[in-house]
Amino acid sequence: MTTKPLRTLRILPLGGLGEIGKNMTVIEYGRKLIVVDAGVMFPSNDMPGVDFILPDYNYLLERKDMICGIILTHGHLDHIGGLQFLLQQISVPVYGTPFTLALAEASLLQQGIQADLRPLSEKKPLLVGPFAINAYHVTHSIPDCVGLVIETPLGKIVHTGDFKIDPTPVDGRPTDFKRLAALTRDGVLALLADSTNADRPGRTPSDVLVGQAFEPLFLSAPGRIIVATFASHIARIQQVIDAAHKAGRQVALAGRSLNENVALAQNLGYIKPGLGLVPLELAMNLPESKLVIIATGTQGEPTSALSRMAAGNHPLVSIQSGDTVLVSGRVIPGKEESMARVINQLFTRGAFVIYGSMAPIHTSGHGAQEDMRQMLEAVKPHFFIPIHGEARHLHLHSRLAGEVGIPEQRRFILQNYQVWEFDGVQARYGETVPGQDVRIDGRLLDDVNETVLRDRERLATDGFVVAVLPVNKNGKLAGRPQIISRGFIHMRDSETLLDQASLEIKRLMQQKGKTTHDAIREGLGEFFYRQTNRRPVVLPSIVKVASNNGSGPDA
Ligand SMILES: [Zn+2]
Ligand SMILES: [Zn+2]
Repeated sequence: MTTKPLRTLRILPLGGLGEIGKNMTVIEYGRKLIVVDAGVMFPSNDMPGVDFILPDYNYLLERKDMICGIILTHGHLDHIGGLQFLLQQISVPVYGTPFTLALAEASLLQQGIQADLRPLSEKKPLLVGPFAINAYHVTHSIPDCVGLVIETPLGKIVHTGDFKIDPTPVDGRPTDFKRLAALTRDGVLALLADSTNADRPGRTPSDVLVGQAFEPLFLSAPGRIIVATFASHIARIQQVIDAAHKAGRQVALAGRSLNENVALAQNLGYIKPGLGLVPLELAMNLPESKLVIIATGTQGEPTSALSRMAAGNHPLVSIQSGDTVLVSGRVIPGKEESMARVINQLFTRGAFVIYGSMAPIHTSGHGAQEDMRQMLEAVKPHFFIPIHGEARHLHLHSRLAGEVGIPEQRRFILQNYQVWEFDGVQARYGETVPGQDVRIDGRLLDDVNETVLRDRERLATDGFVVAVLPVNKNGKLAGRPQIISRGFIHMRDSETLLDQASLEIKRLMQQKGKTTHDAIREGLGEFFYRQTNRRPVVLPSIVKVASNNGSGPDA
């Protein structure tokens, strides 16, 4: 007979499953829990005006006393971007490696948030609550990434963070399988692994190939070279600098985040000292064939340096014929349209743009199938839980785990807010905790709800109509309704329609009990739909006016 322990181990993803973004996982034992990562997600195009999407923090807010700490795997926004919102509501220590903490601190300070930031070492275990956490280095697309081996009273959990396996990374530090092996020698209960590229066969190419692809392009380009990349991709920035110097070109940075990140990386020693960057203002005086500009904007973000150059409103750089633009980054799903627009604008202004599969000037920061297989074989977990991926990636990753010998009953595909639990003997799907993603507009911590989003979409597609209705003290129409619209019809060309709309309002107001705000809104909305097949947002404004006889000229 087995004795059942009193406490269970629970893993609860609050974000990052069924999506790429807002990664956040709760690991809980008894009355204590830790949180791995606290990310944001960027909205898709059907959420006008939404800046970020966050996980629902209620599960944590209701268990503030149980939280021992937040452990960050690396400094990408899908892993740290939620801190500024979470730490407004709870105060807990946040652990991370130096570059990760430097990025987190910079963004928290910008929001005026003082946080308890504590170092996470790759050398000694971090003891928090019932957990002993050991970090091991992984290669990704930002410095100082780690995976975690989390020792719990019921067994070890390995959380890979975001990783690729590159034997020749730019910083010379490959994913540390030696340390991972040492930390997991006595067996692993569960592996939580990055699924981003589960639909890509083979291995993710090494970063070295990107550097090799830059060199001939930098030598042969007739004029200026503009390389767009992520501001946090320090290794890529280093490669651009190295290739530029080999080609006798100097390098300038365009974009605030790029300057900030490079300064941080220089302070921490992640970019070679003495690299001789030129300020952008001075770089404009250099001969075109002697210059490389690194710019932000691989996703077509409207405020990025590259987008502003493409639109012709960058204060210093105007695109000219002879410029070569290299887009060194993969466009994330949902951003293809905006990036295509930027590339079209660049061509139109005379630049030659190299992007997508035109040249191997980008490689993913996430491992492909064979890399994932290698991780599964190295860790040999008893249970497998794919994380960091859309449904298709999680399912494909789980199949791959099946191929390396983990049977189906030991593989769990979770959804956000769904608990996995292990009682020491058996693992099972647990309950789904209440939770709904939070859409943030600006800095407000309120959800932008469905109604607001629907209104925004309708405003964008069909415009709006304001109907000003003068009424007397008896609630009767006391004058001609005034109709104003924007983005719906051209007022001057639509007199007939507006006259008919006035009559419709009169009719609606004459119907008994139909004079409420909502009745007018609905009735007029239906009228416009019948007439135009469009659904503008209708805003009635009922205005009380003084009148002597209680009836206006039109009433
Ligand atoms: Zn990442
Ligand atoms: Zn990520």
